[in-house]
Amino acid sequence: MSVTQVINPSTEETVAEVKRASAADAHLAIERSQQAFKSWRQMAPGKRAELLRAFGAKVREANEELARLEVKNSGHTIANARWEANNVADVITYYAGAVERMTGSQIPVPGGVDITFLEPVGVVGVIVPWNFPMPIAGWGFAPALAAGATVVLKPAEVTPLTALRIAELALEAGIPENVFQVVTGSGSVVGEALVEDPLVRKIVFTGSTEVGIGIQQKAAKRIKRVTLELGGKSANIVFADSDITKAAASAPYSVFDNAGQDCCARSRILVEESAYDEFMAKFEVAVTNLRVEDPSLDSSEMGPLITGAHRRSVESYVDESLVLFRGSIPDGRGFWYPPTVIGGVDSSHILFREEVFGPVVTVSTFKDETEAIEMANDSEYGLSGSIWTSNLGKGLRVARGVESGNLSVNSHSSVRYWTPFGGYKMSGLGRELGPDAPNAFCEVKNVFINTDI
Ligand code: NAP
Ligand code: MG
Repeated sequence: MSVTQVINPSTEETVAEVKRASAADAHLAIERSQQAFKSWRQMAPGKRAELLRAFGAKVREANEELARLEVKNSGHTIANARWEANNVADVITYYAGAVERMTGSQIPVPGGVDITFLEPVGVVGVIVPWNFPMPIAGWGFAPALAAGATVVLKPAEVTPLTALRIAELALEAGIPENVFQVVTGSGSVVGEALVEDPLVRKIVFTGSTEVGIGIQQKAAKRIKRVTLELGGKSANIVFADSDITKAAASAPYSVFDNAGQDCCARSRILVEESAYDEFMAKFEVAVTNLRVEDPSLDSSEMGPLITGAHRRSVESYVDESLVLFRGSIPDGRGFWYPPTVIGGVDSSHILFREEVFGPVVTVSTFKDETEAIEMANDSEYGLSGSIWTSNLGKGLRVARGVESGNLSVNSHSSVRYWTPFGGYKMSGLGRELGPDAPNAFCEVKNVFINTDI
């Protein structure tokens, strides 16, 4: 059997060996999923809701176990990993509540009665990246299962451990076999199999824009439904009238969280000229105080990068002569990279344009509101962003002006599962989360009944 060595990025030790599935394994899982769909879709809504609530409860009980597993596999800080595991329990429970509220409509038409039905799409392939293995999986599989679809989940090859445990918890909760399966292996084998197999009716893909483009092209051959959650290069816009102390204290968390391996990272700080000196003085203190240390410690605020190869990629972006200041990293093994602040780049610079996906941020200045919006929009991406101002009218105007799917005013928060999440432009297609997410796993069927016969 072909296997993947799973490495702890903080220690570089092998922590597990996981099966590397073949295309044939993936096809078998898809066929089983198709069989399971026949009864899952027919299950009484109350029963499906009950099973999902039990699944959510199992995940919540396993919070510490899942969090510790993620620290070991992904190098996430334990505090973040607990939040992530809890988020999975939350989304399963939230969408359990949707099952019994999914309704079609009856539309007045002449000559009869017209009814729409929401029908689950069938087998769904959920393809997940390594940066947030738990939540991103949950945002795909939970609303899909609620809608009555069945799921084959492919975690990233380097971070499969929590997905495998969550699938066991589903079975323990009583979710019928093959309704929710995890197939581990590479993107080019298992991922491609999900995208190519005609039995898979929808793909939810989260990952790089480059791979997302290829998936959309292949899916187009069968008009396969896709939701794409892709890259970002989000702006953190700081106006001079904001509480600069709070903006500067929050800025490290908006970009260095998860060591910058966050699609929502605000990796371009744009500061109003007149506030630059005050902001930078306070930001430097916040960056140097950031606790980059063993992620299993409760005090840790930033862990390592995911792999040695990814660290080399991050390093290759950074021109040392442009570094204004940076934080520290621990000695010894592990794929560490310090929080790094870059200045003196214009909008044509690669660091202003490309997603580094590491703890690297550029700082630029703007003159006024119009220029701030123009600079924020000077990107092919549009996923997230923050706006700091004490003028709420201005905050809302700028939020409306920035072409991005998720903006927060006076906050670095990106994701609240009650609200829709997704990207403009090359950051994606479709939305996850929020009350409408299960509908994205349904076809709408319209039936007309002639009453004049
Ligand atoms: P990636 O290289 O695009 O991989 C994502 C997933 O796709 C992995 O499971 C990967 O498998 C699989 N894959 C690779 N090639 C494939 C193919 N040809 N067909 C089907 N599946 C394939 O992304 P990553 O490096 O893991 O993650 C980082 C990227 O994800 C960043 O660009 C980040 O911005 C983005 N992201 C976006 C969001 C969002 O919500 N918008 C959230 C998080 C991350 P293997 O890696 O196992 O081979
Ligand atoms: Mg990749």
